Amino acid sequence: MAEKFKFTPSAPSSLQEQYDVVIIGSGGAGLVSALQARELGLRPVILEKMPTVGGNTMRASSGMNAAETNIQLREGIVDSFAEFYQETYQGGGRLNDPELLNYFTTHSGQAIDWLRSHGIILNDLTITGGMKKKRAHRPKSTAPIGAFLVNNLLWLLDQIKVPIFTQTTVTELLKDDAGKIRGVNVQVAGEHKTIFAPAVILATGGFGASKQLLKRYRPDLLAYKTTNQVGATGDGIILAEHIGAQVLQMEMIQIHPTVQQDTPHTYLIGEAVRGEGAILVDQQGVRFTNELGTRKIVSEQITALPEQAAYLIFDYGVKERVKAIDFYASKGLVVSAATPSELAKKLQLDPTVLADTLLQWNTAVETKKDVKFGRTTGMQRKLEKAPYYAIHVAPAIHYTMGGLHINEKAQVLDQAGNIIAGLFAAGEVTGGLHGNNRIGGNSIAETVVFGRQAGQQAAVYLA
Ligand code: ADP
Repeated sequence: MAEKFKFTPSAPSSLQEQYDVVIIGSGGAGLVSALQARELGLRPVILEKMPTVGGNTMRASSGMNAAETNIQLREGIVDSFAEFYQETYQGGGRLNDPELLNYFTTHSGQAIDWLRSHGIILNDLTITGGMKKKRAHRPKSTAPIGAFLVNNLLWLLDQIKVPIFTQTTVTELLKDDAGKIRGVNVQVAGEHKTIFAPAVILATGGFGASKQLLKRYRPDLLAYKTTNQVGATGDGIILAEHIGAQVLQMEMIQIHPTVQQDTPHTYLIGEAVRGEGAILVDQQGVRFTNELGTRKIVSEQITALPEQAAYLIFDYGVKERVKAIDFYASKGLVVSAATPSELAKKLQLDPTVLADTLLQWNTAVETKKDVKFGRTTGMQRKLEKAPYYAIHVAPAIHYTMGGLHINEKAQVLDQAGNIIAGLFAAGEVTGGLHGNNRIGGNSIAETVVFGRQAGQQAAVYLA
């Protein structure tokens, strides 16, 4: 079964010269598109440049947003595609591409069902910043969504023998004289090779780890750390630009508000921690924002503090609802204490101030009214169950909203807005869906919705 499965990459010697579809990248978008393409009768191959698979998807924690699902109804949540659309549109500064957003929201519920039909069951719900309803679907165990999804997809792909090559970097996209895609050039074990395929799916992720692209588009962000894996260097964007593809909204880069960065490694502290009830306090021990505002706003509020960092404060009740907290604790990121006053002392906060903050917050939860900041979500439980916990957080570069211009069929468009025949893209490599701020839980949903679409449209193209 998937839980016990250990992924092994395909042997380099088995790399063939010809496939129906080359999929570049082994994150959520690449794995989903491969599964969909194979099930529609194509012969796909996945090429991954890193030694490990899963990309940034592997690091996703909170969940997969979707509306009108049976899982929601079972919890008494009557949701609609229209509300999901509107809240994402508002959260994205109304800069989202309406065609993509419409396709995305109206196919989200089906994506949950599709995963379920493959044994990938996301039947617990949480909420992320900027959403009014619980839409973030996650496994019953409350385990982080990314690794759960990737491991299950790898197992499924292994069952149907879809080859996945690691340490294989795509260096060029090839077109024929008529302008149609005909394959890719790769570098593998120091050698250059050409792989022919009439369709290519770019699933290469974003550029949150590329100093070069940051310098070009957002030099003001160069000092920030990043939550991204080192391979998130925007290769797909550069490869496609070389053959005339159009990019958009490249300067729209998301800073995630809650990243632990006191160790050499950065750890993103998932939004589910706030979604399940955590609050943020400053160095005085006082709340300063609606913790479940959009990432953009919460990041700005933290950056505006003199210390440009904050503490996430929560209790055992929250910890019980977010499995990832055990992982954060195992990395030494969580300060714990038997009482709020002991916690305050450990954080060098004034214990009476922190006690007062908690008292006010618990009153807000009880009366369902956050007089100070108007928070309305993530208020299911008071912070009152010992032990108490804190994580020191600050904003870091997290997600690149901009990227390749695609249409709702996941076809990549050129500078003039025409389709580049045979070239598809899905996931973070694309731009437009999220506007100027991605909502938590929407990137995993994007990889599944548009990964499926890219696989389907490649099949239509090759029929
Ligand atoms: P998404 O969430 O959109 O699926 P991820 O970041 O999870 O994106 O995955 C993208 C994957 O693509 C990463 O594993 C990354 O290493 C891989 N990748 C990026 N550029 C290339 C390239 N030039 N050749 C092969 N793989 C690449």
